[in-house]
Amino acid sequence: MATIFSRIVAGEIPSYKVAEDEKNYAFLDINPVAPGHVLVIPKKEVDYIFDLEDDDYVSLQSFAKRVAGAMKKAMPCQRIGVAVMGMEVPHTHIHLIPINEESDMNFFKEKAVVTSEEMARIAQSIANEMQETHSELF
Ligand code: 5GP
Repeated sequence: MATIFSRIVAGEIPSYKVAEDEKNYAFLDINPVAPGHVLVIPKKEVDYIFDLEDDDYVSLQSFAKRVAGAMKKAMPCQRIGVAVMGMEVPHTHIHLIPINEESDMNFFKEKAVVTSEEMARIAQSIANEMQETHSELF
């Protein structure tokens, strides 16, 4: 059975999409650690990131770098923090989180409350930054 993230890529489940290329997809985490929390995934369904083929791994990381660049422009923050755990959804995903201090990366604190309007606005502003810098992406 397809993972929930494959179903998002296929458009069967809605997502706040931020960017997409041939191999990868980026969208807002539905339960964000901080506003603007993005998940970057390969379209290929591979559970564990280090089981990706080298070219798919490099493609994913380079796509994540571009998304992080757009997030940094769109969101007021010092840095974009990166984490990979994957204990919940068996489909590789990189968490990209706007942070101002280390404690902003705490996955165990209460999650941010972000309205659907704000989620849509954030996704659109990151997508706009992506479009401006990387018009080759869709
Ligand atoms: P992990 O597997 O790294 O522990 O985390 C999985 C992440 O996926 C969580 O942060 C969770 O909020 C997010 N997530 C789970 N299901 C969905 C979903 O249907 N849509 C979105 N946008 N995010 C999801």
